[in-house]
Amino acid sequence: MDGEKALEYALKCPRCGRVYSGFRVMCECGTPLTVEFHVEGSFEDLIQNNYLDVRRYLRLLPVEDKYTPRIMYPITPIIERKISGHVVLFKLDYLMPSGSFKDRGTFLALSALKREGIRNIVIDSSGNAGISFALYGSTEGLEVHVYIPENTPEGKKSILKLLGARIHLVKGDRNETHRVARESSLGVYVGHWYNPFFLEGIKTLSFEVYEQVGDIDSFIAPVGSGTLLLGTYKGFCMLRDLGALERMPTMIAVQAHGYESVCPKSSKMSSLADGIAIKNPPRRDEIKAAISRTGGTCVSVSDYDIKSALAELMSMGFLVEPTSAVAYAGFKKLVRDEALEEKSKVLVPLTGSGMKLLDKLIRVLREKK
Ligand SMILES: [Zn+2]
Repeated sequence: MDGEKALEYALKCPRCGRVYSGFRVMCECGTPLTVEFHVEGSFEDLIQNNYLDVRRYLRLLPVEDKYTPRIMYPITPIIERKISGHVVLFKLDYLMPSGSFKDRGTFLALSALKREGIRNIVIDSSGNAGISFALYGSTEGLEVHVYIPENTPEGKKSILKLLGARIHLVKGDRNETHRVARESSLGVYVGHWYNPFFLEGIKTLSFEVYEQVGDIDSFIAPVGSGTLLLGTYKGFCMLRDLGALERMPTMIAVQAHGYESVCPKSSKMSSLADGIAIKNPPRRDEIKAAISRTGGTCVSVSDYDIKSALAELMSMGFLVEPTSAVAYAGFKKLVRDEALEEKSKVLVPLTGSGMKLLDKLIRVLREKK
């Protein structure tokens, strides 16, 4: 690397316009903040070609080299399949070090925490984000307090223990877990529903996709808190502004029955998609805006849809968790409804590994038979 870049960014409230610096996740008015960060030059000039991991994109992110976490994550592969006349591009983010796409957000959040010298952190999670923070935090000597719902799959709890996280089980659902974590005095709250740095870190997914396959027609994401959809949307916007991407993909949100924060509500409740069982995501307005600005849409899927998609993904060799099957279930539904243009080039991220919750996976797939 040739010298340190001077890092200039601001944390801005999209609602009232207040501006902050340092590490902070929320505005005084209660709104999640966003990182305002601009780079000069072209995408091709800014990438560091000598790296095939996250370091390739460091100059496109609000991060300084001296604060990058010790654990690097790789560029994840894409597997292309022709399905129902469309080109489906599966992005294997479950192959990340901690087994989920969350590592992208954690990496950048950790660098911001290192810059501020913060040692004790608090996060609420359905499992994956907690595991990711616990893994990256453990190598930085951070004390990581993870608040999870009591009914979190045993496999995820075991990994958190293994990584030395301080686990706090919360009686109640994901929203109650969030409430309890926010009131914790054990460390700085870094929850990914709010954390603007986490969102910024997700942008690398878009950068990778652009380099791997160029323009795509649609990006189909499971949406709970919306960090994946919003982070990739920001990444695609940046690529467009840098003159790399020719057209924005339509952003399509897929939600599970009963947890439709942006889709029309259904009367049933999903019990499978624990990773996106979030009723009131704080960035709901931003999610809606990203969908409408790109001409996207939202679909809601049932547990039956998720199970079938999961079994089909396994038959293609993708050992993912049920929540990860939500995006593919959404794709299948869009095909049934003839809602996709002919021969669409569609990106379906596979977000979380099934290896972390084999107990649940075996149960779900046995039930199907
Ligand atoms: Zn504000």
